[in-house]
Amino acid sequence: MADLLELIDISKTFDVRSGGRRATLSAVDHVSLTVRPGTTLGIVGESGCGKSTLARVIVGLHLADDGELVFDGKQMLTGKRRTPGELKQMQMVFQDPSSALNPRATISESIAFPLQVQGASKSVIAERVATVMRDVGLPAAYASRYPHQLSGGQRQRVNIARALALQPKLVVLDEAVSALDKSIQAQVLNLLSDLQDEYGLTYVFISHDLNVVRYLSDDVAVMYLGQVVEQGSAQQLYDEPKHPYTQLLLSSVPTLDPAESTRDEPVDTADSTEIPSPIDPPSGCRFRTRCPFATDLCAQVVPVPIQVGEGRTVACHLYTTP
Ligand code: SF4
Ligand code: MG
Repeated sequence: MADLLELIDISKTFDVRSGGRRATLSAVDHVSLTVRPGTTLGIVGESGCGKSTLARVIVGLHLADDGELVFDGKQMLTGKRRTPGELKQMQMVFQDPSSALNPRATISESIAFPLQVQGASKSVIAERVATVMRDVGLPAAYASRYPHQLSGGQRQRVNIARALALQPKLVVLDEAVSALDKSIQAQVLNLLSDLQDEYGLTYVFISHDLNVVRYLSDDVAVMYLGQVVEQGSAQQLYDEPKHPYTQLLLSSVPTLDPAESTRDEPVDTADSTEIPSPIDPPSGCRFRTRCPFATDLCAQVVPVPIQVGEGRTVACHLYTTP
């Protein structure tokens, strides 16, 4: 089946001030990815790797500097504002369930908002709000409540309901369960999985937490300093990580077996203090300052993603040089 979403060579920079001078931050650098309909693409990486920027480019909240985006067989301009019809097909759920909701709007008003923007009639809005509230497991009585009267998990259900109100094809979830307690996380992940089946949804699921990404993802892309360094099926990637950065990330994931680990917090990074700045990334391979296998070549030549198996790419000289 044809891909639902195809990103081709997407780049996004920001003008920033650094040490009193103007500088360019390379947030997303030549990223190409595909997402098959009805599946989940997990995007994983440490904070600052560009995954949230990429999410915003996908749904049209950021304009890209460069690159193409093909959605449902249709080319969308990444450098121009989306039309309402285009916006409606892709929705986003953010990390913080509280700040994403207007504290002065009731739950039903919040969920109704995107429908109003699209000009839906009162009766359509009432029916849709009731349907999505039921589908995300929120009691009908909550319709007239305010966000502060709900728990964090319930508020994230409201955000999910709001994202589903317009019946999108694609939902981009950016750290959507990261602010929740472990037990609530599991409930919301199960809900997302059920909704994917019921609605035939396609997800882009973004997280720094490899355990969470693994639970929901069919395919996974690993990002480091704005670039995709490895991608493949979740099974391939977790069973046999090829890129040294993926190997490092997986080696620092706390095990789910409590007997083997006393940690219960997800590890954001192996050694986050050493992540170079995206304002002045290392030459050649951006990972070379942390890579145990780095050679002179790695400092001079940017490794391009090469195919290393069915649907699997890795950008590392270990796989290009004989
Ligand atoms: Fe390490 Fe070189 Fe591969 Fe980069 S290209 S990950 S520095 S071996
Ligand atoms: Mg982020």
